[in-house]
Amino acid sequence: MPRVLTTCPRTDEAVSTCLRMQEAELAVMTETRMFRCAGCGHVHEWFRSEAWVERDPAELARLT
Ligand SMILES: [Zn+2]
Repeated sequence: MPRVLTTCPRTDEAVSTCLRMQEAELAVMTETRMFRCAGCGHVHEWFRSEAWVERDPAELARLT
């Protein structure tokens, strides 16, 4: 199951939301989610339009 990534509003870098789902599941998600950011340590809210499903397992490593 791929990870869901979003952009950290503090560092402007891609971070994992700690959730895993398929793109089709993300597409129908309507609620706002919270997660503790591995990039800056703060809790962020994210919404479907701000997130995407990881396509390449190396994506996070490359971006951070
Ligand atoms: Zn952050």
